[in-house]
Amino acid sequence: MSNKLVLVLNCGSSSLKFAVIDANNGDEVISGLAECFNLPDARIKWKFNEKKESTSLPEYSAHSAAIIFIVEEIIKKVEGLEAQFIAVGHRIVHGGEKFTESVIIDETVLEGIEQCSSLAPLHNPAHVLGIKAAQKAFPTLTQVAVFDTAYHQTMPAKAFLYALPYNLYKEKGIRRYGMHGTSHLFVTNEAAKALNKPVEETNIISAHLGNGASVTAIKNGQSVDTSMGMTPLAGLVMGTRCGDIDPSIIEHLIEREGYSLKGVMDMLQKQSGLLGISGLSSDFRDIEQNYEKGHEGAILAVDMFAYRLAKYIASYAVPLGRIDAIVFTGGIGENSVRIRTKVLDNLAIFGYQIDADKNKTAILGEAGIITADNSPIAMVIPTNEEWVIAQDSAKLVSA
Ligand code: AMP
Repeated sequence: MSNKLVLVLNCGSSSLKFAVIDANNGDEVISGLAECFNLPDARIKWKFNEKKESTSLPEYSAHSAAIIFIVEEIIKKVEGLEAQFIAVGHRIVHGGEKFTESVIIDETVLEGIEQCSSLAPLHNPAHVLGIKAAQKAFPTLTQVAVFDTAYHQTMPAKAFLYALPYNLYKEKGIRRYGMHGTSHLFVTNEAAKALNKPVEETNIISAHLGNGASVTAIKNGQSVDTSMGMTPLAGLVMGTRCGDIDPSIIEHLIEREGYSLKGVMDMLQKQSGLLGISGLSSDFRDIEQNYEKGHEGAILAVDMFAYRLAKYIASYAVPLGRIDAIVFTGGIGENSVRIRTKVLDNLAIFGYQIDADKNKTAILGEAGIITADNSPIAMVIPTNEEWVIAQDSAKLVSA
């Protein structure tokens, strides 16, 4: 271990993911999850030195109680660990147009994060709670905010605007912001290294495929277009989110089918995507198992997922002109041999040809090129958002 440890916190509305990361090399010293906040069975699990532990938290615990537990019962119990901490890095979902890069948190930044709550009503208020609790627990450590949206602030207006009355953007901030920025940034840097090119000259299409999924066009190392929108609901088919739909469907369901607005939004967020199409599960492993058994819903869900992603990738030929590589990352992108095959088959018009053996090898954390020697390049790069947060925190502390 080094003296450059960062506690990385990712506070959701009812859970908190945490990790202690060595900013020098990305090594994960501790990782864990506190969940079921505000419920009687609030609990926490963590991993340290390959040993997994779990316990219940006091009834109805929330962010503050979880952070106190992490500090008092996990970090302080490892001799000499706390002394090696240099910062706490917070993953923040929405930074609006205010935040174009990671920043040290002060009162103004905290207010800014609170002001962006209207754009991420489930996430940003939870981040604020987490920051306040971490400030109390570590009063002498620098707290850093790393924004999911920041990397996409390089998009040009023609890509980030919706074709709505312009004042909705100017006065109300209605625009595409994009998400998963830390992941897309990480794989861009890694892809440039793998391609042996300076990142400022690297053009890739990065497909982050997890429970949430987004695809980004990256030109000369910068985001120029992305599939998520003002919120994470837009774009690809996701675990439970619908991705792109005709907005008139919402009016139709409310006016003609008796849905409430809340009911429709709940359906679009939590009952659609892979879950909605398959009728089975939002978890891609379940979907693939059922695909193999010939389940019609699972087959359709996989085909829709791959087709929608391939269409997005094809459309990003427009802003990029030249594509150095397609990069697959996230739980599905890093592991699903089938999805990668189907996506590249859908892109055969561009000359992509999968190498079945290389594709099979690039799973479970293995990076690598998965296309044939005479094909344009597609590769797998396991993402590491926590390391980006730790590195940004370390840079800001030393600056
Ligand atoms: P993430 O949000 O990046 O953690 O990704 C979660 C998604 O990745 C879930 O849908 C998982 O089912 C999927 N996933 C994880 N491991 C595998 C695997 N070995 N094969 C296929 N999908 C996987």
